[in-house]
Amino acid sequence: MMSEPAVSTPDTTPLPAPAPAKLVDVSSLTLEGLTRFVSEQLGERAFRSGQIYRWIHQRGATSFDEMTDLSKAFRQKLKERAEIVPLVKDLEQRSVDGTIKYRFKTRDGRYIESVYMPSEDRKTLCVSTQVGCAMACSFCMTGTLGLKRNLTPGEIVAQVHTVNREVRKLENLETWRPLSNLVFMGMGEPLHNFENLKTALSILQSEDGPNFSHRHITVSTVGLVPMIERFGQETDVKLAISLNASTDEQRSKTMPVNRKWNIAALMEACRKFPLRQGRRITFEYVLLRGFNDTDEDAHRLIELLKDVPAKVNLIPYNENPGLGFQTTMEERAEAFREILAQGHIAAFIRQNRGRDIAGACGQLANRGGEGEGKATQAPELP
Ligand code: SF4
Repeated sequence: MMSEPAVSTPDTTPLPAPAPAKLVDVSSLTLEGLTRFVSEQLGERAFRSGQIYRWIHQRGATSFDEMTDLSKAFRQKLKERAEIVPLVKDLEQRSVDGTIKYRFKTRDGRYIESVYMPSEDRKTLCVSTQVGCAMACSFCMTGTLGLKRNLTPGEIVAQVHTVNREVRKLENLETWRPLSNLVFMGMGEPLHNFENLKTALSILQSEDGPNFSHRHITVSTVGLVPMIERFGQETDVKLAISLNASTDEQRSKTMPVNRKWNIAALMEACRKFPLRQGRRITFEYVLLRGFNDTDEDAHRLIELLKDVPAKVNLIPYNENPGLGFQTTMEERAEAFREILAQGHIAAFIRQNRGRDIAGACGQLANRGGEGEGKATQAPELP
């Protein structure tokens, strides 16, 4: 007997939907990278990349729909393959001294802050490079958060674009780039996020972008020694060192990074740093009452800096609840500055900005509802 042909029942289980292609964040690409993406991945002519780049980095566009000189078909193609990762301004606080602290929310629900500091001759933005910080300096509120994650280049430059837009509106200005100076002294250790910092600097300095001069950008570090060397070789902006102590014992107590690279190693890196002609390294020194503000400290500081082209910014400490340090009295700060001046070290007492809105040095720590003090990434140092 012939067996019946086997009837195969068609498998009607729906196929899984193809995984959506990962969108490329074009706001994090240099012009060169964007040109490659546009020509190699989208098959479009290279000059289109300049149009997109200028829309994002000069006009501050946050969506492809704003790019009205691109055809509708091209904008559609961009939407299918690319994105501009948002950074949304969700709060601003104004100080009596004109400083404005902006809080931004990232797409994954994190919060970062940037501080706008206008003065007579410049408009400066203090920019963040990480959500939280792994360096755990004991006088700093950001340090209590631990490191949550690095900011992307797009998120770093978006702080600048948004504040440019805000200042233009606020001060009724025609100029498309009212900010004149950038300091990377906000949340995070910039050299701990070096690759993204470098890409962001390249965008911020580019002629088709905001075109900031290298003379108007300063990056501050706690002293990641191997990264200082790379920073000097691979960028041309100014360097600031957050020193804050005159002995290893003091520094290791407040800045754990000093246990890995002590003051001698740090000063050696500074001596080797490829300074442009006429430039000096800025040393930031937060004055902590009775801890690092004695005459002996000032004399040791002169000794440390004697063979480095240096200037010192003395920063009266902004007291943070629970961190246990007190600010140095004005007369003590002046006496400290005077000793440095007698030792031929240019020193300035920095005016405190935005103290009333917790926007001053060491006060940025918007938790935005996050758990406190737990780093989600290991604080690996290079
Ligand atoms: S002072 Fe700077 S490096 Fe130190 S914890 Fe604060 S943000 Fe991080």
